[in-house]
Amino acid sequence: MIPGTFDYHRPTTVGSAVALLLQLGEEARPLAGGHSLIPLMKTRFATPEHLVDLSAIEALRGIVRTGDEIVIGAMTTQYELIQSALLTELLPIIRETAVLIADPQIRYKGTIGGNCANGDPGNDMPALMQCLGASYQLTGTDGIRDVAARDFYLGAYATALEPGEILTAIRIPVPATGHGYGYEKLKRKVGDYATAAAAVVITMSGGRCTSASIGLTNVSETPLWAEEAGAILTGSTLEVEAINRAVAAAEAITNPASDMRGPAEYRTKMAGIMLRRALERAVARATA
Ligand code: FAD
Repeated sequence: MIPGTFDYHRPTTVGSAVALLLQLGEEARPLAGGHSLIPLMKTRFATPEHLVDLSAIEALRGIVRTGDEIVIGAMTTQYELIQSALLTELLPIIRETAVLIADPQIRYKGTIGGNCANGDPGNDMPALMQCLGASYQLTGTDGIRDVAARDFYLGAYATALEPGEILTAIRIPVPATGHGYGYEKLKRKVGDYATAAAAVVITMSGGRCTSASIGLTNVSETPLWAEEAGAILTGSTLEVEAINRAVAAAEAITNPASDMRGPAEYRTKMAGIMLRRALERAVARATA
């Protein structure tokens, strides 16, 4: 339970952090809240020779509204997400999701950037970011590029991040006023990763669903955006038949591992149940 030896670096600007990462090469890793990386180092599943701590870079913190988007700095902690009045008003599903992550100690240190950049399919924020249509701002020595959360995840712990790049901010379109939302997570106990979880954001008009977006957590090697399921709901009155078809479409794209959280078939079915519950809550909250 003791990590291998490593050199510690603490840059104060994004420019110096990316320059350091590029110069130090493959054996260097960014360090954010440390609550995914340090446990891996303690068990020697990760043995980086250099840690580049991002915590002294003020530019990576904060939550602001810019036009029709909310921009969240990568080093914003899960606790800060929960406390944010701006998010509670405009994107309350972020708070609903963040309070289901781990426990308060972890949420005080764990960051949204670390949670999204990690590539762990068990993390809750990535599927939510896909559901919300978020994009990730990636910064390297060649400049800044934006990658949609829906395109970022390539496999378990494999992402679109290039060597030397860091995730600097997450941009989320502000959902329509009166939208409905729900994040439902099945876990074995407080502090556990999801057996399966679902994020839903919908808009309604005159009893008809005018848009629906669905993300699924921990039921594949990557987070899943259930595009077909959302398309089935859109334009429907959310009658039982449409919901059943959407749930079946969502279950069909899952590919969970059988593990201590249950056999694959069970986890797929739980993804469907979480989707039904999240949808039910979203409909109850939608105000148009
Ligand atoms: P770190 O651990 O510092 O980094 C994680 C990885 O991302 C590392 O590879 C690091 O190099 C990389 N990285 C970090 N920041 C950046 C960046 N800005 N740019 C590029 N790469 C970066 N999470 C959940 O979502 N749901 C849970 O239920 C849950 N339960 C947990 C239970 C326990 C007991 C523990 C210890 C953790 C749990 N977590 C859970 C994980 C927790 O939320 C982590 O804090 C989070 O996944 C990683 O964020 P971090 O800031 O701690 O990142």
